[in-house]
Amino acid sequence: MKVAVVGAGIAGRFVAWRLVKSGYSVELFDKAEKDEESACSFAAAGILSPLAELEMAEADIFRYGLRSMSLYQEWLPELTQPVFFRQIGSLVTAHGSDKIELDHFYRLIQRKVDQDDLQQNPVEKVQVSSIEPDLEHLGEGLYLPSEGQIDPIGLMAALASELEQSEAVNWHHNTMVEEVMGGAVTVAGNTINFDWTFDCRGLGAKDDLPLRAVRGELLWLQAPDVSLEHLTRLIHPRYRIYVVPRPDNIYLIGATEIESEDYSSVSVRSSLELLSAAYSVHRGFGEARIIKSVVNCRPALPDNLPTIETDQGLTRINGLYRHGILMAPAVVEQALEDFAQNIPKVTHANYS
Ligand SMILES: Cc1cc2nc3c(=O)[nH]c(=O)nc-3n(C[C@H](O)[C@H](O)[C@H](O)COP(=O)(O)OP(=O)(O)OC[C@H]3O[C@@H](n4cnc5c(N)ncnc54)[C@H](O)[C@@H]3O)c2cc1C
Repeated sequence: MKVAVVGAGIAGRFVAWRLVKSGYSVELFDKAEKDEESACSFAAAGILSPLAELEMAEADIFRYGLRSMSLYQEWLPELTQPVFFRQIGSLVTAHGSDKIELDHFYRLIQRKVDQDDLQQNPVEKVQVSSIEPDLEHLGEGLYLPSEGQIDPIGLMAALASELEQSEAVNWHHNTMVEEVMGGAVTVAGNTINFDWTFDCRGLGAKDDLPLRAVRGELLWLQAPDVSLEHLTRLIHPRYRIYVVPRPDNIYLIGATEIESEDYSSVSVRSSLELLSAAYSVHRGFGEARIIKSVVNCRPALPDNLPTIETDQGLTRINGLYRHGILMAPAVVEQALEDFAQNIPKVTHANYS
């Protein structure tokens, strides 16, 4: 069976890798040069927060996220290259005057998740200092022990390495696909036929899906004066941020959400907001160095939910929005099950 995968972001790489593991040969197309890091997936902070994301998402995201957490534990050891993955829980907190927002957050999660799931994935009211001693000034917070994080750049590299080493994969870099159809793609005016095509183009599929771009900005800091272990979210009426600790005192501060397809550099306003909020979490960020700034656009559908569409030799996976790294394993698993059954199906806002 001849299979094409178009788009080598997190969705396309997972699809190609899992197909190869099931014995398929894959032609993988991407418009990016080899080693170019332009896909949205390279920009992600790597937060794996099925529960905390519920503040701005539906229960489907939680279910995909939960399934992905299990799949990450299962799949990562199958990769030859190790990938930084940590599941030690996350913190959600707020400044004194905003504590009411924290209560709102707590109630929202209780309402969106059923009791069985909450027992296995609890949200615990804690003193923040019991989890992060340096954050005593923040008083109360919430601790979500089942949450984690991953290094998306390392993950993308590890998947690339599997695909490049496999004789079952032919990776066409620097190849713009003009059209993706059931069982065919068009490249440079020529139609190439396949038995099945997977469309994982993210925002590149705008002609075929009602996608919009949501700009995200993220700053990487090196902060020798800060020693935090846990992913920490600051709830704030205007400047919500997360702080993602990485090895070697590196912290990712993000991310903005701006309804715009704008790939230009991080704005002064966004930098001020992100950095002021980070400084309010830990004064040690005052002497940190900004080592990298990242901008990319998230592919979002009107309901901000992912779509998996299977019909007539074509599977479309898209709309991963702000949870693509979290959801990709579960979404891809679902897409490959639908593909194996070859029954026309649209899984949209519905995960069963
Ligand atoms: C700042 C920021 C922070 C984020 N943080 C997180 C986070 O912490 N956790 C999380 O879960 N998610 C996060 N996300 C969201 C996540 O990055 C996205 O949901 C995810 O990367 C989308 O993956 P994708 O594979 O659908 O698209 P992409 O990664 O964009 O991949 C699409 C690929 O298709 C290729 N392509 C497009 N058109 C064509 C064409 N015509 N021909 C050939 N190739 C084509 C592109 O070159 C690209 O390689 C973040 C996003 C941003 C911007």
